[in-house]
Amino acid sequence: MADWLTALDRRAELRAKAGLTRRLHPRGADDAVVDLAGNDYLGLATHPEVVAVAAKALSEYGLGATGSRLVRGSTYAHHALEDTLAGWLGTERALVFSSGYLANVGAVRALVRPRTLLVSDAHNHASLIDGCRVSGAETVVTPHADVAAVAAALAAAPGRPAVVVTESVFSVDGDLAPLARLHAVARQHGAVLLVDDAHALGVTGPAGAGAVAAAGLAGEPDVVVTATLSKALGGAGGVVAGPAGYVRHLVETARTFIYDTALPPAVAAGVHAAVELARAGDDLRAELAERADLAASRLRAAGLEVSAPDAAVVSVTAPTPEAATAWAAACRDRGVAVGCFRPPSTPDSRSRLRLTIGAGAPRADFERALEVIVECAP
Ligand code: PMP
Repeated sequence: MADWLTALDRRAELRAKAGLTRRLHPRGADDAVVDLAGNDYLGLATHPEVVAVAAKALSEYGLGATGSRLVRGSTYAHHALEDTLAGWLGTERALVFSSGYLANVGAVRALVRPRTLLVSDAHNHASLIDGCRVSGAETVVTPHADVAAVAAALAAAPGRPAVVVTESVFSVDGDLAPLARLHAVARQHGAVLLVDDAHALGVTGPAGAGAVAAAGLAGEPDVVVTATLSKALGGAGGVVAGPAGYVRHLVETARTFIYDTALPPAVAAGVHAAVELARAGDDLRAELAERADLAASRLRAAGLEVSAPDAAVVSVTAPTPEAATAWAAACRDRGVAVGCFRPPSTPDSRSRLRLTIGAGAPRADFERALEVIVECAP
């Protein structure tokens, strides 16, 4: 008897009793809530041009890629998207994975050679953490955004290959990593800088090319950029971009690329259309930045503790995990969806609501949503 399967459920029961159950909220296509929880920053997931291009590719290629990239899964849609992404990000080459998670795991692991040291920020996303773990390399976790700690970790491993692993805009608090300083320290020690630009691509940087481009690091020979295609680009998939030799090495060795069924071609085509719209979306980016500032100032004026948003992620501290859960539920009951982050999904022991701002919703709805969040505060 597999009693332990039943025992697993007891753990879930304990979480339920504490009011900490993780809930799945199914939504219909006609969902009417004001969305401050999703990552469709530029409103491109439902943009008519994106949908039309994806629908055309869907009718031409069918539903799935029918195989991994190295077998039958590579289509012209994938290759065209990769060329466009490399051009946008300013790198020699880009490779598309079927998710940002798999891109990160593959990108980190492929950088590891014997004796490699990984230096990973304490607030890094689970996919970067898993990349470090899967690689089997020694990993030093440095305090959040602490350049001196990164420098010390590198200095303590002279002569060893090293990779500094960070997000650009951190997914929980929305703050921006000190990319230029991290790069300077990495270069001084001959290390590679790997940056997950998931929450910045399309949202910040020249023509929306992300925070790495904004920091002037695009195309540097010791920088690797990863991103998801599921946030500002409104689709799905991930990308790893960098020097051509490294990307070639990924094609040969990255297990999450080689052994995974390719991204559906229709998604690749739709994301390609989204990239073109994102590049031309300076007006949307200006609206986003303004809304993020407005959210932070309104919530602060109501006495709430709010992160300093560097892109479109705004985080609001909740006193306890239970209060965060109740707060998010009350907002939901009043038609506002917000992210609810509690331990163990937070990098510290704090709970918070995470607001991901979108430029797509009508302005009046957005402002009303801010009022609801304040009125429902614990
Ligand atoms: N990196 C970061 C910073 C993310 O927030 C996410 C999405 N939660 C990912 C990677 C993973 O991307 P995907 O959802 O495409 O797997």
